[in-house]
Amino acid sequence: MTGILSAEHEAVRSAVREFAEDEVIPRSRDYDEPGVVSFPWEIFEQAADLDFLAPHYPEEYGGSGMDFLSTILVHEELNRADPGIGTAVLTGKFGTEMILEHGDEWQKEEFVRPVLAGDAACGTSISEPDAGSDVAGMRTTAEKDGDGYVLNGSKTWASTSPVADFMLVMAKTTPDAGHGGISAFIVPTETDGFTIEKDIEKMGLRASPTAEISISDARVPADHLVGTEDEGFYQLMDFFNENRIMVAANALGAAAGAYRYAYEYAQEREAFGQQIGEFQGLQWMLADMATKVETARSTVYRAARQHMAGEDPRQLASIAKYHTSEICEDVCSDAIQIHGGYGYTKDFPVEKFYRDSRVQKIVEGTSQIQKNIIYDSITPGDL
Ligand SMILES: Cc1cc2nc3c(=O)[nH]c(=O)nc-3n(C[C@H](O)[C@H](O)[C@H](O)COP(=O)(O)OP(=O)(O)OC[C@H]3O[C@@H](n4cnc5c(N)ncnc54)[C@H](O)[C@@H]3O)c2cc1C
Repeated sequence: MTGILSAEHEAVRSAVREFAEDEVIPRSRDYDEPGVVSFPWEIFEQAADLDFLAPHYPEEYGGSGMDFLSTILVHEELNRADPGIGTAVLTGKFGTEMILEHGDEWQKEEFVRPVLAGDAACGTSISEPDAGSDVAGMRTTAEKDGDGYVLNGSKTWASTSPVADFMLVMAKTTPDAGHGGISAFIVPTETDGFTIEKDIEKMGLRASPTAEISISDARVPADHLVGTEDEGFYQLMDFFNENRIMVAANALGAAAGAYRYAYEYAQEREAFGQQIGEFQGLQWMLADMATKVETARSTVYRAARQHMAGEDPRQLASIAKYHTSEICEDVCSDAIQIHGGYGYTKDFPVEKFYRDSRVQKIVEGTSQIQKNIIYDSITPGDL
């Protein structure tokens, strides 16, 4: 990990790690009950107080005006402590990125600022029961009506929605125009006709409630449109460029955390009269895990730096997201293996690391979708 960060960035990492060790790890099992809608509000509020929710947001809206790599380090470190809480806390602001980039001053004040203060949470609702990877296939509509829009449709997989104050909802304003007919709307969750239907029971990531939403004649004022009508798909693509690097950082942190627990266990457990960490077979497994974490880290930081430099990070963001989420599953699985049978129990954190982070290969575009983007954007001359 050393040598690729400045002293300032190392200081950010240390500060977040200290917070994560003291506040996140002791509570990691508190939000892992199946069938219980929970969200780590306390940690979300503490993270907001410490400016950890989105350090790269401008100070005028409650950020710290730091750089994007600082935000990446926050994601990495919170997920290293606990990928469930880490991802949930950072997903609680999901959508503010687009408001900040494309919204007007009133929207930034009214919606972004309270989230960064830890007083409100939000989410982004793109996916529908019949349209996940195929974003342009969404059917939810938003029809102009007087001084507002009336939304109708169904959404699913809406992270944070059961506890959110508002959701950023993508809907078709020109239904026949395919991806060129989508717009983004801020919809307060208390809006009549906007119903959070049911929390979806998941394999892991239970700190982040995820629900279906039914939308029936839900009316929002025209000033809740974010950016320009019919530009939503293009806004979303920018949003994904940034968010994919953040998801990659989540996966990176989870892999680093699983490695840490596996390494520690290998120094403690004994078999055949010696520490299992003295068996070369396990040392090589740990070496492979460390190599995966370090190479993934380089890709994630490089994508972040490209984004910070104002270059188009699309290709590298997909490479970082694809590669890191894949090695994360491998490393978490190997961490269970090193724990033997105990790795398959709730007595050790590695089973939770696996369950909570497995989703990173699916969200923000599956691994297959990332490979489509990588293949489409790389020419032999690039390599
Ligand atoms: C825990 C969780 C939280 C989520 N949070 C949110 C959220 O907050 N907001 C939101 O909008 N969505 C969210 N999602 C939804 C997520 O973005 C989608 O699940 C994802 O985009 C995949 O869509 P899908 O599930 O419909 O799968 P499908 O699109 O049906 O894909 C099924 C399979 O087909 C493959 N496939 C599809 N198209 C192609 C192709 N062109 N080439 C090759 N393979 C392809 C996929 O890779 C996958 O393996 C969340 C999902 C989960 C599990």
